[in-house]
Amino acid sequence: MIGLYHDREIETMDKEALSALQLLRYKKTVADALKTPFYKKRLSNVGLESAEDLRSLADIKNIPFTTKEDLREAYPFGLMAVDKEEVVRMHASSGTTGTPTVIYQTQRDLDRWTDLTTRSLVSVGCHKGDIFQNMMTYGLFTGGMGLHYGAEKLGMMVIPVSSGNTKRQFQLMKDFGTTVVHATPSYMLYLYSKMEEFGYKLSDFKLKKALVGAEPHSEEIRKKIENLFGIDAYNSYGLSEMNGPSVAFECDQKSGMHLWEDSYYMEIVNEKTLEEVPDGETGELILSILIRTATPILRYRTRDLTSIIPGPCSCGRISRRISRIKGRTDDMLIINGVNVFPSQIEEVIMKMPEIGTNYRIVVKKNGLLDKLIVQTEVGPSIFSDDARDMNALKRRIIDNLRASITISPVVELHEPGVLPVQEGKAIRVVDERGESK
Ligand code: AMP
Ligand code: ZN
Repeated sequence: MIGLYHDREIETMDKEALSALQLLRYKKTVADALKTPFYKKRLSNVGLESAEDLRSLADIKNIPFTTKEDLREAYPFGLMAVDKEEVVRMHASSGTTGTPTVIYQTQRDLDRWTDLTTRSLVSVGCHKGDIFQNMMTYGLFTGGMGLHYGAEKLGMMVIPVSSGNTKRQFQLMKDFGTTVVHATPSYMLYLYSKMEEFGYKLSDFKLKKALVGAEPHSEEIRKKIENLFGIDAYNSYGLSEMNGPSVAFECDQKSGMHLWEDSYYMEIVNEKTLEEVPDGETGELILSILIRTATPILRYRTRDLTSIIPGPCSCGRISRRISRIKGRTDDMLIINGVNVFPSQIEEVIMKMPEIGTNYRIVVKKNGLLDKLIVQTEVGPSIFSDDARDMNALKRRIIDNLRASITISPVVELHEPGVLPVQEGKAIRVVDERGESK
């Protein structure tokens, strides 16, 4: 069934109209960017002195890329393109090291972001009357507040509980009849693993949908969430530099995420040559935001690896779809010379029905060699004291992994609930090799 649109005109406009709108908005963004010290210098280096110098979308290729390091260098105000009095909100992303990157928004910027999040919620069939329990962290991180306002605008009742406090999450879900939750996929799985312990069962809840994002996850993890809870789970992608959630969102067809192209200009490039790759081929996602005046960002290197899914979606929306994020250019592990993406490991183990709801990848030095350890919880009915059963399962996991990543890891099986969990984004990889990797 094809759901409703939030803004039929924008969502189903034809390709020519979309390109024209993109060019118009890109020019406006360049005009804003030229008001910042950072871009004024950058753009004049390539002969872009005014927005009119950008004559067609093809000219965008001449604009230099912007990196996370650039944003850090511009801290705190180097990328602010409006008077300070116009700014009504800031968000910041600290990452793991050093100076944060800061994003500013005017009220109009926020309204446009809200509109986009409403669109995303409508595209997965959310509606007025839904009870929306937002389990994403509120604060400088954009995950919580991002969908909050769009959900209110749609008329959903929002429970702004934020992340953590699992017991309270269950209680709210039950007492208020939550129909839609927003959480990281790892937290959804953790939630399920704790349900019995906190005295709840599935029939206590009215849950229908989970919107999951903020961290990489495989199709197998989506299916696991759907099967365990008996609900639909939809993938939601965003990053703070591009406002946050609702850069790309799955529609009810669950066949890739529509990257909202009227609001973001996307390119996918080979991460080494930085040349555009053909549709269907994996590369690094490059984004320019077209709907924000206070902090324009052009050709941002997201480091996220994805591909454009060729062809139109059966929902009728014009925005092209990107595949599930396959990883980041900086999360590839090199193990004894072999390139391994954590997502490859997840895909293999989560296909196996015996595997539970949490896993971790640990890499250590073993003399001169690297040692890959896959620690995984097994389902409650699977864990057994019988060493033979457990060894047979380990063997199968190792065989399946070797077939996919060509190396044999050490596999450790754990009881449910034993491996560490995070309140925010899951930490799936622990690399203990230090400087010598
Ligand atoms: P932040 O700026 O802290 O919100 O982090 C943004 C990053 O989280 C993105 O660049 C991605 O690496 C990751 N991310 C967000 N949503 C998803 C998703 N649905 N699938 C995979 N990774 C995601
Ligand atoms: Zn669609």
